Amino acid sequence: MLNDSRKLGALLGERTAKAFLKHFGIETVEELLAHFPRRYSKRGELTQISSLPIGEMVTVVGEVLSTSNRRLKGRSGSLLEVVITDGTKQLTLAFFNQAWRQKDLHQGARGLFSGRIGIFSNKLQLAHPDYELFETELTGEEAKAWADLPIPIYPAAGSLSTWKIQKAIDIVLTATPSVDGILPESLLASEGLISLDEAIRLVHQPKQDVHWQQARDSLRFHEAMFLQLQLAKLRQARTNQVATSRSSGELLGIFDKSLPFSLTSGQEEVGEHIAKDLASGSPMHRLLQGEVGSGKTLVALRAILSVAESGGQSALLAPTEVLASQHYESIRRALGPELSERLGVRLLTGQLATADRKRALLDMASGKCLLAIGTHALISEKVQFYDLAFVIVDEQHRFGVGQRELLRLKGKTSPHVLTMTATPIPRTMAITVFGDLEISTLTELPAGRQPISSHVVEVSKPALVSRVWQRVAEEVAAGRQAFVVCPRIEGDTQEEQEFEGEELELEQSVAPAAAVDVAEALKLNPALAGLSIGLLHGRQANEEKASVMAAFAAGEIQVLVSTTVIEVGVNVPNATAMVILDADRFGISQLHQLRGRVGRGSHSGVCLMVTASEPGSLAMQRLEAVASTTDGFKLSELDLELRGEGDVLGDVQSGGRSQLKLLRVIRDADLIARAKVFAEDLIASGLPAPLQLALEKADAQALKRS
Ligand code: ADP
Ligand code: MG
Repeated sequence: MLNDSRKLGALLGERTAKAFLKHFGIETVEELLAHFPRRYSKRGELTQISSLPIGEMVTVVGEVLSTSNRRLKGRSGSLLEVVITDGTKQLTLAFFNQAWRQKDLHQGARGLFSGRIGIFSNKLQLAHPDYELFETELTGEEAKAWADLPIPIYPAAGSLSTWKIQKAIDIVLTATPSVDGILPESLLASEGLISLDEAIRLVHQPKQDVHWQQARDSLRFHEAMFLQLQLAKLRQARTNQVATSRSSGELLGIFDKSLPFSLTSGQEEVGEHIAKDLASGSPMHRLLQGEVGSGKTLVALRAILSVAESGGQSALLAPTEVLASQHYESIRRALGPELSERLGVRLLTGQLATADRKRALLDMASGKCLLAIGTHALISEKVQFYDLAFVIVDEQHRFGVGQRELLRLKGKTSPHVLTMTATPIPRTMAITVFGDLEISTLTELPAGRQPISSHVVEVSKPALVSRVWQRVAEEVAAGRQAFVVCPRIEGDTQEEQEFEGEELELEQSVAPAAAVDVAEALKLNPALAGLSIGLLHGRQANEEKASVMAAFAAGEIQVLVSTTVIEVGVNVPNATAMVILDADRFGISQLHQLRGRVGRGSHSGVCLMVTASEPGSLAMQRLEAVASTTDGFKLSELDLELRGEGDVLGDVQSGGRSQLKLLRVIRDADLIARAKVFAEDLIASGLPAPLQLALEKADAQALKRS
């Protein structure tokens, strides 16, 4: 949000400029000034020499006691040793072949010293530390002020230590008479905030704590405004796009009459909103969220029928081939033979035989196929539609914004887009990241759904673990089926998870359970003797996967050991037990999704999360949270808190909009909501030129990233 594209080389020298580019991708003044300190420290807070942790990077304040330079015995070169003290303890700095440093590091010199702490001849040592000497000797008052001066601590990398970054920024700020403001002064004044110029200076060069606090408040507001302006512009651009207006008719009528149940009130309501969107003449951009099994597909199907009424084609994108096939089967079943035929429902996946594939492609191009179901294959360049009118993306988190756009471009006019997700997005996040989408939520499950009970099982309690397998056996004995989910495919493979959505910090180093091994072990487990145990994972051939799923759906396999390939959408109503091994390896929303695979029929479900995590650990907290509630919204808020939204945003923002720096979606929810109103006002009254420029620049950058 700064406008200053001067290159750093001219100000800092080419070497430093290159280092900034290499380590941070920073090339220009505006990028460097937006490299904010991570925190502020006081000189008094730096590490004491007496408590230096061996092997770690440390920064200490010290005074040089003595120096000595000597030739090395037995080889050429010299060693300069400098003893410093912080008043309590001593520490030796060692430099090889750098006798010239003796001039700087004379007795009485004071400064900051930073490096990795080691032990040499029984003494604490920093080999080749970075250091920064203080220029003047301070006394009394001065020393106190100096000790209280906030020191910005920057994210550092490679040769760019935090004070080298600070120095570079000082140079750049000196060479920058003023930073252009982008927001109207009156707006900042009404919010009690300092100008952008002041904020940038004070965030980097605070004299007191209150300075950086004021700076941070102003910068957060700027960031919130910038975000909302970008989103508002996206929305605006879309209202200018034209979409063919679609209204329901005979097809939907036939379908509704054939339904063996009545719609939930949520399905009715969302259906009406969607109908309005489809008829409006501008493209729909709606996010439909609702728990697994809440009936989202049905809502989408009714919209598909409305679009088909006037010959519009729909494309349903599923995240995996297994799911695409399942959708294809269940949608054809739901439509019945007559409607399936009239819609020309086609499946397009990579595993299709060439002839079938050709026919499907032909029908899509000719307009005979009004509903195409598939994976990414649907958006390959070869695929042509006659009149693509409606795009449905199931489980949005597997698709990048870029891919959605690509598919959108296949229509004659802009297609309507409906994104469905069972991973609910906290309201606060929805208005930031998905602020360009309208949001609908199905809050109730269709009547007759059964509750799921969830438990954490500690591996350290063998009696409980064997109870897990007994429970599985009991479910099977009662005619039900069970899933056993493992984090990995095979014992000797490195990869952790098949689902790309979430990366977790692992708290243990023991190899997690592998599906192949677990399947073998369970066949030998006396509790499960005589049961049919199947195996499903991403490295199997597509036909094999499909046949395993079919066998499980048909009840021929009673216990299905798998990886997270079964995570989304798989629907086997007879499955009632979900065992998750090394459950701590999964994220909260992943666990919630997995659990949603059971209890879908008329019998209640049980989810058993087996873990070696320590009680009280973060991993255990996550599991206990999942066990304590089945409210997906509560869990997603919690997930956001525990994981930090950096990860969450990074993952859903794959199309690259803005990257939040100081703003936090939950903490700053009110600010973000307020900024939305200001942003819309500002657009209505005309954007100031520097702001316009900054927004265009951000767009160009986002495009470059995607
Ligand atoms: P989602 O996609 O939200 O996970 P689905 O649309 O797959 O859920 O619905 C799950 C199951 O519930 C399907 O078998 C569907 O036919 C059924 N279903 C959908 N709506 C209703 C309803 N109103 N009443 C009863 N069953 C329903
Ligand atoms: Mg679904």
